[in-house]
Amino acid sequence: MTKEKEDNNRDDPMQIDSNRVPTGSLLTDYLRIYYGKFFPYTDMFKWLAYGNDGKHPGCDSSYFGRREFSFTINSDIDEVYLRFQSFFNASEMETSIKAKCPTKIDIGAVYTVDPAKRHAYAQSGFNPIERELVFDIDISDYDDVRYCCSGADTCLNCWPLMTIAIKVIDTALREDFGFSHILWVYSGRRGVHCWVCDSRARRLSKEQRSAIADYFHVYKGGENSLKKVTFSGPLHPFLARAYTDVLKNEFEKWVSTQKLFEHEERFHKILQLIPDESVVSELAEKWQGNSVRWEHLKHMLQSGSKKTQGLRRCIEEIVFSYTYPRLDIQVTKGMNHLLKAPFCVHPGTGRICIPIDPKKCEEFDPTSVPTVAQLIEELNANASIGADNYVEKTSLAASVHLFRTCFLEPLIKTCKDELENAYNTKIQQTKDSLNW
Ligand SMILES: [Zn+2]
Repeated sequence: MTKEKEDNNRDDPMQIDSNRVPTGSLLTDYLRIYYGKFFPYTDMFKWLAYGNDGKHPGCDSSYFGRREFSFTINSDIDEVYLRFQSFFNASEMETSIKAKCPTKIDIGAVYTVDPAKRHAYAQSGFNPIERELVFDIDISDYDDVRYCCSGADTCLNCWPLMTIAIKVIDTALREDFGFSHILWVYSGRRGVHCWVCDSRARRLSKEQRSAIADYFHVYKGGENSLKKVTFSGPLHPFLARAYTDVLKNEFEKWVSTQKLFEHEERFHKILQLIPDESVVSELAEKWQGNSVRWEHLKHMLQSGSKKTQGLRRCIEEIVFSYTYPRLDIQVTKGMNHLLKAPFCVHPGTGRICIPIDPKKCEEFDPTSVPTVAQLIEELNANASIGADNYVEKTSLAASVHLFRTCFLEPLIKTCKDELENAYNTKIQQTKDSLNW
């Protein structure tokens, strides 16, 4: 859109229907305005430069330029996928995004050399050397345990599955692995993404990433059946904590929101998880015309009677099968897997991929996430606001603020400290070698 056309839009606002999801050329028009006025280029640059902003003598000024970005561009005829885009600084990134107006921006790894010039270095090696540790969780992977929605759809009844995933994974990343710079992002429709950005996480090898993915991956051998786990001895401390602190209570709520024991077809699925025919038939009989089925089940399996002694772990297995996070582990294992950038617009819903505060994740409501149409409407309603504070006057402000205060500022502080320490060590080593 030309400058003139854009200004005309301000004077004569587009008719915006904020409930309608824009498609085709309307989506492109909306994206142009979004990338022109809302996308937080400077914050994104600060994040992905990790302190290498050219200001400190110890910083690596080539760092940001070696990061792969990838754009999905929709024309009238087809979808074009541009990989290995790279930018030297924030303004180069801004110019390119505004010009190409991608429907999706993905972030890849940091490579040994500038990805755009990779062909020139094919001989000497073009390899990923740094990458955030990432997690991708899609609610569509839970279709066998949710009854309100399926596929890409989600509602406030099933969204708690994502809240559970955030709580369980976030706690383990902090307490078990000692990471502290963790960004959670709403994917715009069906799930959440997690970016672990500590320098130690970014430098993990493929093998170390696999080991971490395996740590979280408790569904072994049960991918295609509802029973996802079989526990024998005592639970691993991580799983025991997840169970006690999160899963147990959340499953109780899940029982009521999904009416798990009110419909025969639903409670039969749960009975199938009990590997003892006689217990199953006793329960099925008791449940005829009875409404406290879940209470019965717990009471019976936990009674310690001779009959149920082999079934002590069964309640935990049921709870884990229904609520434990289901990860796309290939995304976590890979070094050069692409993951959608925060603050993108989801083309299917028009919603912005905003950060989620893990400390308040139960307050996050995917149905109230601002859409690109809503932001433009808010902009039009404030036609007199100055160019510097478009975002401040709209419902995107809280998300940008959250990104800065909870994630970016503490991260940059750590990065600067690390740069300073590495630089001082290097200076000291030089001095020592001269003294010698
Ligand atoms: Zn739902």
